[in-house]
Amino acid sequence: MKEPFLSALPIIEDIQEAGYEAYFVGGSVRDFLLGKDIHDVDIATSATPAELKAIFPKTVDVGIAHGTIIVIRNGQGFEVTTYRTETEYKDYRRPESVSFVRQLTEDLKRRDFTMNAIAMDKNGSLVDPFDGQKALKDKVIETVGSADERFQEDALRLMRAVRFVSQLGFRLEPETEKAIEVHAHLLQHIALERVMSEMVKMLDGPHKAEAFQILLKSGLYQYLPSLFSERDVLLTSLDYGVSTLNENQMWLLALHFSNTADSAGQLKKWKLPAKKIKALVRALDFLKQRIDHDWTAYHLFTAGRDSAVLVETVYQVIQHRPADSFVKRINDNFDKLAIKARDQLAVTGDDLLIWADAPGGPWVKELLESIIKAVLDGAVANDKQEIRRWIKTCGLL
Ligand code: ATP
Ligand code: MG
Repeated sequence: MKEPFLSALPIIEDIQEAGYEAYFVGGSVRDFLLGKDIHDVDIATSATPAELKAIFPKTVDVGIAHGTIIVIRNGQGFEVTTYRTETEYKDYRRPESVSFVRQLTEDLKRRDFTMNAIAMDKNGSLVDPFDGQKALKDKVIETVGSADERFQEDALRLMRAVRFVSQLGFRLEPETEKAIEVHAHLLQHIALERVMSEMVKMLDGPHKAEAFQILLKSGLYQYLPSLFSERDVLLTSLDYGVSTLNENQMWLLALHFSNTADSAGQLKKWKLPAKKIKALVRALDFLKQRIDHDWTAYHLFTAGRDSAVLVETVYQVIQHRPADSFVKRINDNFDKLAIKARDQLAVTGDDLLIWADAPGGPWVKELLESIIKAVLDGAVANDKQEIRRWIKTCGLL
């Protein structure tokens, strides 16, 4: 057993000592069996939240109605969820309330895909009633039980299936694939936040091209809020090497392909954070300039390193070129800039006002901008007295 299971082992042992069952479940077991990096472990137990609280002195209620609490141990938090069944599904959504049960297999049965329905005990032995290991070996995504029923119970699973394709490069089992097509329209009933969290993972996955093909073929794309709901955006993406692009870069690429007149509005429909929307709209503007001409020192400076790297990466993908060496060039050129931020300029607006002995006005900002350009182009050193002399020689004051 290795980390992060190792540090969660005492939690399982404490639960067992109190007379209940406890297993590792879900994504961590799947990723462990696939030999992938594991982020957080989920623990499933026959103990109810109240029983868990009697065992552990420090817990946090995160989703107690659904049976989930966080156990704090040595300053680290572990998600522990009581075995449950989800009987009453309303409106194709996750149920409002759940029933706690004492049998592990009942809990595994309510999980979405067979590869996600494997439990592992503290010795590494597996409980795998739906042959999830075979699914992992065959690289197949298959619902636990009837695909039709499972997607109707909770239509978010439609998105989850496609995001696992993107992350793992697995194919869909034929019945599961057919059911996605039939029930695609149910995605409309799902809260945007839940769709978004799967979308982010889809956009970050290395096999997003395969995922986009499924979105297109099943018609699921039509029920997304914007951008990736455009057939052309998805189809065009397939012609480019998008596998290495991350989520942020994918939003920028989608904005570029969609050619929308209201980029901010499109991103707002996904409820992206305002700060991210602003950064992406600005990046799109730099991308347009990049298409027209190569970076100048002034452009690099105004964009900032992160935005310039984002823009250059997407630009090179649009050019069908691997971006690495170009991104390195951006970083090298940025390192060489005489100033990297406005506050590094040796003069301020106040200096200019004193030197000019004149009332302020738009001229201050304009002159500062000219000085920044001159410093970046190497026409003058970033030194207060040299800049003062340069201004006089140019007749700017
Ligand atoms: P990740 O590695 O992205 O966290 P994950 O499989 O762990 O992937 P989670 O959303 O963390 O995904 O869910 C944990 C587990 O809970 C899943 O592996 C699955 O067993 C179950 N699960 C999550 N969402 C659903 C759902 N909508 N329907 C049924 N089971 C689900
Ligand atoms: Mg998880």
